[in-house]
Formats: sequence, structure tokens, C-alpha cells
Amino acid sequence: MNKRGTCSVLAAMFSGVMLLSSCSGSPATAAGTDVVSSGVSAVEATSAAAFANVNEPEQFSSVAGYFVTPEPTEITLPEESEEPEAEETPSSGSDYVSEVDMLNIEGNFMSPKSLDGIDPYNDKVVALTFDDGPFETTTPRLLEVLKDNDVNATFFMVGEFAEKYPEIVKEAYENGNEIGTHSWDHSKNFLKWSYDEVMDQISRANDAIEAATGLRTIIDRPPEGAINSDVAASIGRMQILWDVDPNDWKVENRDPDIVYENVVNGGEMHDGALVLSHDIRETTVDAYDRIIKELKDEGYKFVTISQLIQIAQLRGKDLGWIFNGAPSAAKAAENGYTAETPNGPSDSGSADETDTGSSDSED
Ligand SMILES: [Zn+2]
Repeated sequence: MNKRGTCSVLAAMFSGVMLLSSCSGSPATAAGTDVVSSGVSAVEATSAAAFANVNEPEQFSSVAGYFVTPEPTEITLPEESEEPEAEETPSSGSDYVSEVDMLNIEGNFMSPKSLDGIDPYNDKVVALTFDDGPFETTTPRLLEVLKDNDVNATFFMVGEFAEKYPEIVKEAYENGNEIGTHSWDHSKNFLKWSYDEVMDQISRANDAIEAATGLRTIIDRPPEGAINSDVAASIGRMQILWDVDPNDWKVENRDPDIVYENVVNGGEMHDGALVLSHDIRETTVDAYDRIIKELKDEGYKFVTISQLIQIAQLRGKDLGWIFNGAPSAAKAAENGYTAETPNGPSDSGSADETDTGSSDSED
């Protein structure tokens, strides 16, 4: 289908909150930075994502369900009396502001990117994600690789590193890449911390990212991929996992040729894939120029997580508190999903999974 058709369908699905204001003309910028913002306040778009109520799965059954503002109910605020350490980021100072409070500050969150220039039903898409950074040498090099290849990726950043390297965070975002949190210090995981600790980890990571970019994130990747439905419900934010894992962090895989082979020929790559890698690894960064060029040759378009979420929903995947990737366009078509029937029954996606056995690559 053509771009105009795509946009009109998307616009209709976004109903009240008009997200695709750029549909009518403006082409995607070279770096893919045309973040959608006009026509909807950032807080409308993002508080929806952050507040998506996992106890009501039907809220994820459509694109609108993901972005339309639901009722922000009964989320227990973290205790304010947690020790405000000297390490607190400058933006929060001694006045601790909870993640929930932050949602009420208009214009404070990153907006989902539009699908302008992407045919969500027919394009072959892949989302690259990079965890555990930013790191002073490797991340800037990866940003160059992405820029040189005119693609964007999503970075799940560790808060204390975001605080340490704010210029890298800023550059990553301003280049059109997307950013999510990956805890404050990666010292444990969401199943081992208390609720207050989890929220503090996410809030502090967002404080650091906001100090660098001016905006807070709308997505998280749980350290080690450790998450379950109860914890995700208590957090109230989308937890992003993956479905292609080259295991680039493992010692035996720290070789660009191996990382390349694992991503491209590892048997997991597919239309709608969500790839996990680590931008703190030299060998990973060394592999990605080749990986991107090869995937481009194979016809892939590179999307960010917010774009992949929209594509997944348009292809009929119900989204829950966890997100691994999108069904392929071919599979969506097999199931009868077209632009005209975007809200049919869900595929057998991962929305109902409870625990994952996946383990992130904590090195
Ligand atoms: Zn990690």
C-alpha cells in the first residue's frame, strides 16, 4: 500500500490522540529524527505508554490502546524518605520526584516516532537495540556507524553511565535514536530489588537521561531480562525484551565475525525482529557496519522500538507488558491482517507470557 494509505489508517487508529501529524507530507529526515510531536502533548502520548494498565490486556489490543491515555490509577508512590544520596543527579536534587509525579509534567517525555516513510504491512523491518551503555569509546563509534548507514537504533542506558557521559546520551537522541532505561546501576535485577528500589532505579536513570536530553524515556529493558507480570504491573511501563540474541557479551563470542554471523546467519533474524546487543563491547561495534549493510542488502528497514510497537499492533499482535518483536508481514497477511482489518484476533505473540527464562548479557 502507499504511504498516504498507511497514514490515513494510522491516523484513524490513533483516534483522539493524533500522533501522525507528519503523514501529510514531510518526508522522514535523513537521520529519521522527525519525532512526532505536534497535535498531541508529550505527556498524553507518553503517559499512556507509561501507564498502560497491564491488568487490562485489552488496552493493548490496538495501536490506540497503546497510546491513548488510560486512567492512571492506584500506583503506589515510592517512599520519599529513601536516602537521597549525594549521587543524586543534579536534575532531581534533594526534592525527590517520583516517576508517577513526573508523568504529570507536560512535555517531559520522549514521543513515539512516526511511521513516516515505512509501510508497516509490507516493509521488512528490524529493530536494533543496544544495552549497558553509554560508554565513552564504543558508543560514539557505534553512533557514527548508525549515522554513516543512515539508520537509527534504540539504546537502553544504564543511568549512572548516562550521568557520566551526558554528551553521548544527547548525541544519540539528537541523531534520531530512541532511548530507554536499563536501571540505574545494573547491580541486581527487577525480581531481586524491592518495588521501591525498582522504581528508584528507573527514576534515577530517567533523571540522568533527562539531564542530558531534556526528556524522560517511555520504555525500559529490565536488567538480565528478568521480569514477571506482577512486577511489570507494579512498574506500569512497557518492558522491552528481544527475540534475536547474538550473545555478543559472551567471552567466546567477542569477535566481530562471530557477532556478525550470529545476528545475520544465526537463524533468528526475521521481519519484525528485535535484536539485542551491547554497545559497551568493541567487538560488537566492530561488527555492526557489516551487519547493517548486509541486512539492508536483504531488504530490511531499520526501525526504533516505538516504531516496531506500532508496526506489531498494525500487524495484529496484542501487546502486553512485555514486547519481543513483531509478527512478520507474511505471517500477518496469512492471518488476514491488512490495512483494512488491523484489529483482528491477535497472533500467538508474547503478550501473555509471565516469566521469561531469557537472560540478558550482564557482563
Ligand atoms: Zn544489561
